[in-house]
Amino acid sequence: MPKVVGLRCRECGAEYELQATHVCEMCFGPLDAVYDKAVLKKIVSRQRIEQGPKSMWRYRDLLADPLAGRRPLLDHRDGPVSHLPCHM
Ligand SMILES: [Zn+2]
Repeated sequence: MPKVVGLRCRECGAEYELQATHVCEMCFGPLDAVYDKAVLKKIVSRQRIEQGPKSMWRYRDLLADPLAGRRPLLDHRDGPVSHLPCHM
């Protein structure tokens, strides 16, 4: 069962089938993924995110990409950054 069931315009609320697009045809607003929360709860948990890599890939299960989880990771060390003291 897919975790992302469609797209919804953030500005006017127009809904679209899941497709490779990012802008609303009605108002040119940005489109957000619409998740099936019941399916998402079975896949994503706080514990699973915390146990993931210390990069953006810890949120991989939230991606709309149907290949997420089956594709090798490309880790460019994006993610949490250490805070350094500032001396002025
Ligand atoms: Zn719209």
